[in-house]
Amino acid sequence: MEIKTFGVIGAGQMGNGIAQVASMSGLEVIMADVKEEFVQRGIDTITKNLSRSVDKGKMSEDDKTAVLSRIKKTVILDEMEAADFVVEAATENEEIKFKLFEDLDKLCPPHAILSTNTSSIPIGRVAARTKRPEKVIGMHFMNPVPVMKLVEIIRGLETSDETFQSTWDLSVRFGKTPAEANDFPGFIANRILMPMINEAVYCLYHGVGDAEAIDTVMKLGMNHPMGPLALADLIGLDTCLAIMETLYNGFCDSKYRPCPLLRKYVEAGRLGRKSGKGFYTY
Ligand code: NAD
Repeated sequence: MEIKTFGVIGAGQMGNGIAQVASMSGLEVIMADVKEEFVQRGIDTITKNLSRSVDKGKMSEDDKTAVLSRIKKTVILDEMEAADFVVEAATENEEIKFKLFEDLDKLCPPHAILSTNTSSIPIGRVAARTKRPEKVIGMHFMNPVPVMKLVEIIRGLETSDETFQSTWDLSVRFGKTPAEANDFPGFIANRILMPMINEAVYCLYHGVGDAEAIDTVMKLGMNHPMGPLALADLIGLDTCLAIMETLYNGFCDSKYRPCPLLRKYVEAGRLGRKSGKGFYTY
């Protein structure tokens, strides 16, 4: 199947990064969010990223203009009727994603593949909301999307081989390295990463160390490029909590219980970098 028009739902930190790499690969992109200011913020972030590449001599001014001109912004989901392939990158909330997949299934052409960038919600649950479960797949990019090489590709129970291959090929076209995962809560990446982050929050909660000590131990002791608390702030504490809840509910195993301190921060609106404050202040 030839993919010409690529839809992105959500213009947040993941959505705008996905729109950028898709446009850089030559696709026509439609990026949708619920408010004009949110899509505009996504465009502003992409513009800033591309300008940095121009300043470093990695991209010409003409290429930057061309990449931006291929991204159309909208607050009208109906515009996805033109898409051959959609990546849903809206807030990590089951009800939001279920509604979006019901709507996208009705709007998009029958040949369109509907993928989700969910960090942890089982693909089969999302696919069951549509009449095309064989065309539903997980396409899990890493943050920041333009920089990180990995795309985790998750097959739902009904995902066809053709859908899998198209998604794999598209990841390669984006300059990424795909890895295949099976459909269990958290897949591979967050099944391993998020309990580690949650345990770092427990260390803070129990007073084993302050945020800087915890991050220093993991950076210098384990050679991680970023400490787990700084990484949690980058991912978004609301997203981290949502992933822990999906693991906890999905496996019914107490080892995945979210740390009360993580919940407390999210309830108080401390979401990390995106709100200006998390374990650190930005
Ligand atoms: P974010 O909060 O930065 O952005 C989410 C965007 O979705 C917001 O702009 C919001 O307005 C929009 N949105 C909500 N409902 C919508 C709807 N009905 N239609 C269109 N847009 C809608 O979140 P994010 O970090 O970009 O995460 C998005 C998705 O990517 C989540 O599923 C998350 O789990 C996943 N993800 C996040 C990371 C990360 O590091 N943050 C990494 C991989 C995957």
